[in-house]
Amino acid sequence: MGSGAGVANGLGNLKQFGFNQPVIAICGDSTFYHAVIPSLVNSVYNNANFTLVVLDNGGTAMTGFQPHPGTGQLATGDQAKVIDMEALCRAIGAEVKVCDPFDLNHTVQTLLQMLKEEKGTKVVIMRHSCELIRTRKEKKKPYKISVRDERCAGKSCGCDRLCTRVFQCPGIVWDEIRGKATIDEALCAGCGLCVEVCPQKALVKEAVQ
Ligand code: SF4
Ligand code: SF4
Repeated sequence: MGSGAGVANGLGNLKQFGFNQPVIAICGDSTFYHAVIPSLVNSVYNNANFTLVVLDNGGTAMTGFQPHPGTGQLATGDQAKVIDMEALCRAIGAEVKVCDPFDLNHTVQTLLQMLKEEKGTKVVIMRHSCELIRTRKEKKKPYKISVRDERCAGKSCGCDRLCTRVFQCPGIVWDEIRGKATIDEALCAGCGLCVEVCPQKALVKEAVQ
């Protein structure tokens, strides 16, 4: 909720005392506008070494999709001028990269590259519209996802349930009795991202016509 960037500002200045861990702070786009900007200005000013990841899904998803200064819409529904997050970060002197988290490889490479850079405040904007926004507009899922039981090795596959233990999309649940992952059709938005995440290729997607 915005405190991460302030804490990272402190941790990102501890190298002089022997602290050499990479520091990452995470916030959403709405939180960025209402709580992170002051910490970010302070971090750049103090040359704090950390990476801020902004999960920019284009809405205040956690509390009901209220508009924020990046959406171009007021609470009344009227249009407003968008405050450009990327331009704002660059304007105060932060290094900025923008990527689409659905391009998993590029996103991982971008993040690793930023973490390797040892000086200054960096911002990675991971931008992809919330799947719930798309579902509301389009009223249908792009993909039907299923689990190939014969490939899903669950706890013993080496990933130890990467999908439900780490990735944790609510659309995938762990079936303790079968010892397999399973898709909850009521919660799955059909985005297809989990297919890229499973190291065993046990999750498959089929385009919905
Ligand atoms: S679906 Fe893939 S990631 Fe999930 S438990 Fe099965 S093998 Fe592991
Ligand atoms: S397709 Fe996979 S990642 Fe996307 S909502 Fe469904 S279970 Fe989650």
